Amino acid sequence: MPHITISDVTKSYPPQRRGDGPVVAVDGVSLEIERGDVFGIIGYSGAGKSTLVRLINGLEPVTAGSIDVDGTDITAIPERRLRELRQGIGMIFQRFNLLRSRTISGNVAYPLEVARMPRAERAKRVAELLDFVGLADKANAYPEQLSGGQQQRVGIARALAANPGILLADEATSALDPETTDEVLDLLARVNRELGITIVVITHEMDVIARIANKVAVMERGRVVESGLTYDVFTRP
Ligand code: ADP
Ligand code: ADP
Repeated sequence: MPHITISDVTKSYPPQRRGDGPVVAVDGVSLEIERGDVFGIIGYSGAGKSTLVRLINGLEPVTAGSIDVDGTDITAIPERRLRELRQGIGMIFQRFNLLRSRTISGNVAYPLEVARMPRAERAKRVAELLDFVGLADKANAYPEQLSGGQQQRVGIARALAANPGILLADEATSALDPETTDEVLDLLARVNRELGITIVVITHEMDVIARIANKVAVMERGRVVESGLTYDVFTRP
């Protein structure tokens, strides 16, 4: 059974102006993401990628269709269960979304505090996570003292804190220079390989997909226009 099955999913928003039709952000999308995939979703701005990710995460309801995660149809469960399931999905963002008033440790600890993990266990887990992303020496620094690449590594540590089975990366390297992008992609590849986490990578950059994704779906105007193994979808010289 696939890890994530998206079946004929549509998401539309009410018209922006009177007289306009609804905005169809995602239009009849079906995809199967297998356990252990690094699945790329590529498309220009406005293609519907972020909306699709918010639907997978259950942050917004679908207009039609269903999304099965780990054998549960997340479009058919109450908000309470959805919040529990969301703990099993980590997320990283283009702008990192770190709390500037908290140290690096404090940022990584945040989701564990929300989950009420006891203090001693939490400290151990945070140390382990910072070690994994190579930032043990920055535990007491603040986000603005770190480079962009380092901040994204903190974002990854935080996303991994609750031991998710899935990591959603929304334009996670788009704010980074090429060298730092490589560093973050290498870390994501390790997350996939060493921790066995399924990763969904959203990007408008072909290079990112070519470097890390084994499969790819190309989105245009809310639809998947092509999908398959990256090796087959991308032309080679
Ligand atoms: P991408 O991530 O590929 O840039 P988005 O999913 O952000 O694309 O947007 C897809 C389309 O849906 C765009 O036309 C966008 O304006 C529209 N859209 C996204 N979110 C909303 C919203 N909350 N309300 C209205 N329209 C939205
Ligand atoms: P919300 O609108 O629910 O505050 P955001 O849109 O800021 O969420 O971020 C989306 C998701 O990213 C949240 O559901 C949460 O799981 C995660 N997230 C955002 N900020 C943090 C944070 N400081 N610590 C841990 N997780 C966070």
